[in-house]
Amino acid sequence: MRLDLHVHTCYSYDCTLSLEKLSAIVQRKGLDGVAILDHDEIEGALRLREWAPFRVIVGEEIGTLQGGIGALFIEERIPPHLSAEETVARIHEQKGLVFIPHPLARGVPGKIVTNKLYEILDQVDLLEGYNARIPFAVDDRRARELAAQYGLPVAAGSDGHFACEIGRAWTEMDDFRTPQEFLTNLQRARLHYTTKTPYLVPALTVASIMPLTAWRLMRRMIQRKQDTRRHR
Ligand SMILES: [Zn+2]
Repeated sequence: MRLDLHVHTCYSYDCTLSLEKLSAIVQRKGLDGVAILDHDEIEGALRLREWAPFRVIVGEEIGTLQGGIGALFIEERIPPHLSAEETVARIHEQKGLVFIPHPLARGVPGKIVTNKLYEILDQVDLLEGYNARIPFAVDDRRARELAAQYGLPVAAGSDGHFACEIGRAWTEMDDFRTPQEFLTNLQRARLHYTTKTPYLVPALTVASIMPLTAWRLMRRMIQRKQDTRRHR
């Protein structure tokens, strides 16, 4: 099966892609499924799984105190701003898999702190071996080398926030029924990806999402201010 193992929906604060549009594009691109890793949120993934005619892996890209850690196969949202260790423990409590997106990428805000990555690596289940969004192909290669060194399977995903990005990278692997079987089959998976287009993401972002993200960030700041006032 062909899976884009890292996509976002409008349930991420920085993405406007509706579940309906994502569903249409997944089918148009001939993918058999996706892993949804919305930032600090799983509601979109849970909703899409209810009606999507393809496989939906419920995941989350969790902003920990030491940067981004991904979870796959979880059923409950894990809050952001916990330590990396606590986040990993909570993922495993749910029998989910710890997935590190763009582990060694430069120029990617929100990626995991490198020292911390090495500290928790023995509890990590898989690494992202290709992420279509990160600017330097060499950083994907370094991630795959690190995975090989530690005997970890790797996944490929688009990290798509816009319709045109979905399916720009995908993982081809045998079908699975459980997270453990997913991991086993991933060892023999093939990663597919297109060449890097470093200007695509900045261009798309400037063109369409800046006003909305700015608005949401502003709303968050206002909310936080009101919260602190209330607590005084
Ligand atoms: Zn992402």
